[in-house]
Amino acid sequence: MKLKDKVCIVTGAASGIGNAIAHRYASEGGKVAIADLNLEASRKAADDIKARYGTEAMAVAMDVTSEEQVNAGVRAVVDAWGTVDVLVSNAGIQIVNPVEQFAFSDWKKMLAIHLDGAFLTSKACLPHMYAQGSGSIIFMGSVHSKEASPLKSAYVTAKHGLLGLSRVIAKEGGRKGVRTNVICPGFVRTPLVDKQIPEQAKELDISEAEVVSRVMLGQTVDAEFTTVEDIAEVALFFAAFETNALTGQSLVASHGWFME
Ligand code: NAD
Repeated sequence: MKLKDKVCIVTGAASGIGNAIAHRYASEGGKVAIADLNLEASRKAADDIKARYGTEAMAVAMDVTSEEQVNAGVRAVVDAWGTVDVLVSNAGIQIVNPVEQFAFSDWKKMLAIHLDGAFLTSKACLPHMYAQGSGSIIFMGSVHSKEASPLKSAYVTAKHGLLGLSRVIAKEGGRKGVRTNVICPGFVRTPLVDKQIPEQAKELDISEAEVVSRVMLGQTVDAEFTTVEDIAEVALFFAAFETNALTGQSLVASHGWFME
């Protein structure tokens, strides 16, 4: 059991990648808080986890862009389980549009969810991690933390920004036992990606099949999607890694789409 009794908060865990991470952590003995905008889906996810692994799980209503809700959510977890050992800042959305048509309100919303969310959840968890002298913070980046694509100005900007925040917390937290990492997935078939397929087809004037075969998988080595299980395995690796040796690092998991 690599995370026995570790208290893990995963944002955006009512769906997709975050949900798979919550399951993987629970399967290794972690107590998992599903922190999501969608409380009903979070409750269902927490119930599924409790039933499946016999571990503790809780749902936390949290809009990661709200300092008040983030602080209240982290407080609820600490009140229930005493501390926070692992934070996975994963909640995210996607909005695609060319820059000249990108609504400023959409730009601000994207930066708020991806960057404010990462900052606020880290800020709320760090005092608990520092007090106990250990902790792991994992940010959900993307291949778009390192590579650009058309139509994704806000997403690419925000995902690049997470690398900077992770490195700063790695430097501030190193002597206090706190490690940070960024996971950079390629395309993973979740609701976030399914929503983009017709949108990109329209914007790029190509078929939906071409969006999948060319835009999403065209540069992979095997024309395969990365899976939520692949990403959950990487998230387990970072959360359970015991030393500072890998702190501040990011790892791309993309079937060879992006290599460094
Ligand atoms: P998803 O749509 O399946 O899940 C996202 C979850 O985040 C949902 O449960 C949603 O309710 C929640 N959420 C949205 N806004 C929120 C907010 N303000 N506060 C709290 N929760 C909120 O998406 P996913 O594909 O699992 O994406 C998860 C993360 O992985 C995102 O950060 C995304 O950018 C990143 N990512 C996804 C892919 C991919 O191909 N799917 C690739 C690289 C990175």
